Amino acid sequence: MKKIVIIGGGIAGLAAAHRLQEEIDRGGSLDCVVLEATNQFGGKIATERFDGFVIERGPDSFISQKPAAVEMCKKLGLGDRLVGTNQEQTKTYVYTGKKLVTMPDGLSLMIPTKFLPFAFTPLFSLQGKARMALDLIIPKKRGNGDESLASFVRRRMGEEALRKMAEPMLAGIYASDPETMSIHSTFPMFVQTEKKYRSLILGMLARKRQQLMQKPAPPGPGKNHQPFSLFMTLKNGLGEMVDAVIEKSPDVTFRTDAKVQEVTKGTSTSWRVVLEDGDTIDADSVMFATPAKLSAGFLQPIAPKVADLLNQIKYVSTATVTLAYRKEGFSHPLNGFGFVVPRTEGRKILACTWTSSKFPHRTPDGFVMLRCFVGGALNEDLAEQEEDAIRKMVKKELADLMGIHQEPEICKVFHNKKSNVQYRVGHAALIESVQKELQAFPGLFLTGSAYTGIGIPDCIQNGTRAAESVIDFFSCESPTKD
Ligand SMILES: Cc1cc2nc3c(=O)[nH]c(=O)nc-3n(C[C@H](O)[C@H](O)[C@H](O)COP(=O)(O)OP(=O)(O)OC[C@H]3O[C@@H](n4cnc5c(N)ncnc54)[C@H](O)[C@@H]3O)c2cc1C
Repeated sequence: MKKIVIIGGGIAGLAAAHRLQEEIDRGGSLDCVVLEATNQFGGKIATERFDGFVIERGPDSFISQKPAAVEMCKKLGLGDRLVGTNQEQTKTYVYTGKKLVTMPDGLSLMIPTKFLPFAFTPLFSLQGKARMALDLIIPKKRGNGDESLASFVRRRMGEEALRKMAEPMLAGIYASDPETMSIHSTFPMFVQTEKKYRSLILGMLARKRQQLMQKPAPPGPGKNHQPFSLFMTLKNGLGEMVDAVIEKSPDVTFRTDAKVQEVTKGTSTSWRVVLEDGDTIDADSVMFATPAKLSAGFLQPIAPKVADLLNQIKYVSTATVTLAYRKEGFSHPLNGFGFVVPRTEGRKILACTWTSSKFPHRTPDGFVMLRCFVGGALNEDLAEQEEDAIRKMVKKELADLMGIHQEPEICKVFHNKKSNVQYRVGHAALIESVQKELQAFPGLFLTGSAYTGIGIPDCIQNGTRAAESVIDFFSCESPTKD
C-alpha cells in the first residue's frame, strides 16, 4: 500500500483527498492522511453559525462558470443544497462623487454590451465613454507577453474604465494592485477575447449571442434564488462542503491540530513528515497544500531552488467585517448586491456586500446583514489594525457612504493576515519554473491557491489534478505495472 500525506486541510488539500478516496473506491491501494495545523478543516473557508445567522469568515460563494465546485458539491450529495443569488435584486453600485451609482445594465465584467444603459449612465464622463468605445477600433496587441491589468485596461478602454471599474471590481477580487497584477493569470478570458475578436466589446457581444442560443438552466427551488446563477453558495454556508468531503471520504485519515514542522528525506524512496508534537509519519509521497510561503519553508532544506521560486509569490492582508442590524428602522433599502469603492474616492473600505439581499438564509427574520472588505495590496495597513479600530472605521464608512447610523447587533471582524495571494506579471512563467524544478523530487507535489487560480473552483480543480498526479506517480512506481 502506498502512503500519501497531504499537508494542509484547506479546500485544495480536501479536494485532493476526495479524489484519492475515489481512487480507493475503485480498488486503489492507497493510504491517505490529511494533516491540518488548526482545530478545523477548510482553511480560508470557515462558516460560523449561531442564532439563525450564517457568517462566512472568508469566501461566501463561488462562480459557477468554472464547473469544478458545482460538480464537487453534486458528487458530495450537496446538489440540492446549492443556491444562487437573488434574481430580483441584481444591481451593483459604485461609490463615486459622494453617492452610490448603479453599474449600467449589460456591463459584463467591465465591458459594455448594451448601448442605451451605457450611453446614459452617469457613472462615466462623456470623454470616458468615448474612450471606452474606442475599443471597437483599437488594433489588438502583438505578441503573447504578459502585462498588468492596468496596462491592458488602459490600452483598450482608457484610464476612467480602469479607475472606476477594473480597479475596484477586478483587482478588488484579488485584493491586488492593478499596476502589478498579471492579466494572463487573473483574467485570461480578456486576453483570449482580444486575440480572437480584437475588440473586447465585439467579443463579449459574440459570447452573449452564443449563450442565448444555449438552453436556459432549469428553474430551481428557493423563491427568487436561481440554482445556477453566476455566484453560488450552499444553504448553510460553504462550510457544508468541507464537512461533506470529510464525511464522504471514510478511508482517508483526517487529523486536526497536526501542525507539520518539517519534511525530510526518509529512505531512498520515501519522505518523513515531522509534526510539531514530535510525531513522525513516513510516506511515499507528500503533497504541500499550504500557502506558497509555508510550502517554501518546508522545501528550503530539500529543494532550495523550488523554495526560492515559491518565495517570490507574495501575499497581502485583508480584513472582512460582518455587521447585522435589526431590520426595523434600518435606513437603507439594500436594493442590490452591494457596492465597490474606487481608490480615487479616498475611502477606507474596498467594497460592501449586502449579504442578506444577495444570498438567502443568512439571517433570522427581522435582520439584515452587510459585509465590508478592508485592506489589500493598496491599503494593507488598514487591515492590520486592531479589531476595535477596524470596527470603528467601518461603522464610520457605512455612515458616510450609506447613511447608516444605527448600531449593529453583531459586528465581527476577521483578520486575513498575509492571506490573499498575489498573481503578479509573469506569474504563469514562475509557476512553470516551479513545476519544472519540482520534477527533480519524485513524490513531492504542490497544490493550492498560489498556482493556477485563487477561486474555490480553481483550488478544487488544482487539488484534484495534484491527486491525479500522485496516482500516476504511484502507478509508474509500482513494479507490477511496469
Ligand atoms: C477574505 C477572503 C475572501 C475570499 N472570497 C472568495 C470567494 O468569495 N469566492 C472564492 O471562490 N474564493 C474566495 N477567496 C479565495 C479562496 O477562499 C482561497 O483561495 C482558497 O480557499 C484557498 O484554499 P487553499 O486550500 O489553497 O488554502 P488554505 O485555505 O489557506 O488552506 C491551507 C491550510 O493549510 C493549513 N496549514 C498551514 N500550515 C500548516 C502546517 N504547518 N501543518 C499543517 N497544516 C498547515 C492551514 O491551517 C490551512 O487550513 C477568498 C479568500 C479570502 C482570504
